[in-house]
Amino acid sequence: MTELTHWINGQHVKGTSGKFADVYNPATGEVQAKLPLASVEEMEAAIAAAAEAQKGWAATNPQRRARVMMRFGALVNENMDKLAEAISREHGKTLPDARGDVQRGLEVVEVCMGGPAMLKGEFTDNGGPGIDLYSMRQPLGVVAGITPFNFPAMIPMWKMAPALTSGNAMILKPSERTPSCSLMLAELLKEAGLPDGVLQVVNGDKLAVDTILDSETIQAVGFVGSTPIAQYIYGRAANNGKRAQCFGGAKNHMLIMPDADMDKAADALIGAGYGAAGERCMAISVAVPVGDKTADALIERLVPRIEKLKVGPYTAGDDVDYGPVITSQALARIKGLIDSGEKQGATLVADGRDFKLQGYENGFFVGPTLFDNVTPEMDIYKEEIFGPVLSMVRSKTYDDALKLVMDNEYGNGTAIFTADGDTARDFASRVNVGMVGINFPIPVPLSYFTFGGWKKSAFGDLNQYGPDAFRFYTKTKTVTARWFSGIKEGGEFHFKQMD
Ligand code: NAD
Repeated sequence: MTELTHWINGQHVKGTSGKFADVYNPATGEVQAKLPLASVEEMEAAIAAAAEAQKGWAATNPQRRARVMMRFGALVNENMDKLAEAISREHGKTLPDARGDVQRGLEVVEVCMGGPAMLKGEFTDNGGPGIDLYSMRQPLGVVAGITPFNFPAMIPMWKMAPALTSGNAMILKPSERTPSCSLMLAELLKEAGLPDGVLQVVNGDKLAVDTILDSETIQAVGFVGSTPIAQYIYGRAANNGKRAQCFGGAKNHMLIMPDADMDKAADALIGAGYGAAGERCMAISVAVPVGDKTADALIERLVPRIEKLKVGPYTAGDDVDYGPVITSQALARIKGLIDSGEKQGATLVADGRDFKLQGYENGFFVGPTLFDNVTPEMDIYKEEIFGPVLSMVRSKTYDDALKLVMDNEYGNGTAIFTADGDTARDFASRVNVGMVGINFPIPVPLSYFTFGGWKKSAFGDLNQYGPDAFRFYTKTKTVTARWFSGIKEGGEFHFKQMD
């Protein structure tokens, strides 16, 4: 049994609290490692050391900080396969998907290589007579990143790269279910030249998080996870005077118009609904076909595609479509929601509850599940299932479909499949959701744009990565300067004596 560590002051440090969490291999159901859970004292010591280290890091010029990101990016690339394996081992996603997880994090690191350009201030010459104004962006100090289980590389990199490039120190508290990748990234950052103490990876549970939230040293909290925890963290952090951006859960709808290419729409629904076992905050979990003919055409195409899906452990090869869900509790919850959908009157077209895989009987697998005739009152519609379950809500008109999306409490991502530019344009303009795909099911913006949902999918201001991240991790100071005239005032007719 491996005993994992924290990463403090540039080295692996054993936990001293005596409390551990089990880290599972979700494909086999076995515990593969013990993760130390930090005590209040351990967390506070890590924060204090980060505050010391931050002073020198903030004084390091921005270009030198960006060079650490350049070397880090190269090292992440070199270690791509190792990182992906660590992700798949703890999360269960396939290796190609795990490489994508690393890649989408790396792309944010790449933007941070040009970070100094984002950190520049503004200048107005002669804002008044002889008066100049300039602003500068300064780091906040020590900030925290609290991340979810489902993207063990991408989301820690979304947090660390802009925060560190901006001159902050960071306490990263990764998910206790998928912690190894963060520890590996910390090793690579050290190798890239990051001074010790500037990134502390402190593992833990609610106690560790609450210690962060109540710390007077921590200036900002970047959180990603489920909506109730996002709202809790946002409230407690803000109440303690911290800057907070807390990204929450989702229920992403995809509209399919009668003029859409049905084969492409079905392919998109399969990938976006079942990829990573539906454990993506940008997964499509609700298909909204407009018109019964559209719905029937889709069902006809989805069923054979679902039958062909290969579910299995990541070790079974790159042709596996998706793996297990994260824990036995998640498995039980997803199965319970499928039961409820059946009881509440939805049509169960494909049922993944009894999925079994020889040799992996104790793994946390759910087969692909499809419901038709789902209504907004049903629990399978209201809850974020976070599993390989796709619900179809039939809609009579485009306006009804749009209203369904607008009325949903979440607003992370949404998509429309159509051949009509006018409808697509109207949808993108009116929908109250943060990220919109047009004939594109998972519209995660590229790293030089910015990522964030609306409504209950995000609390606080400013998005993740892109220019917003640099604004979040810095504060602006504005200077108004006037210099009174010296020697230039009046003439001097004698040789000045330089005494
Ligand atoms: P989670 O909310 O259970 O955990 C997220 C983090 O919060 C973890 O580090 C965990 O240790 C900590 N935490 C959990 N319970 C806590 C508590 N009571 N008090 C303080 N801290 C606590 O989320 P998860 O299950 O790891 O991740 C899945 C969720 O994340 C889904 O809802 C998914 O939609 C969401 N998500 C959102 C985005 C986004 O950008 N909006 C991205 C990825 C995942």
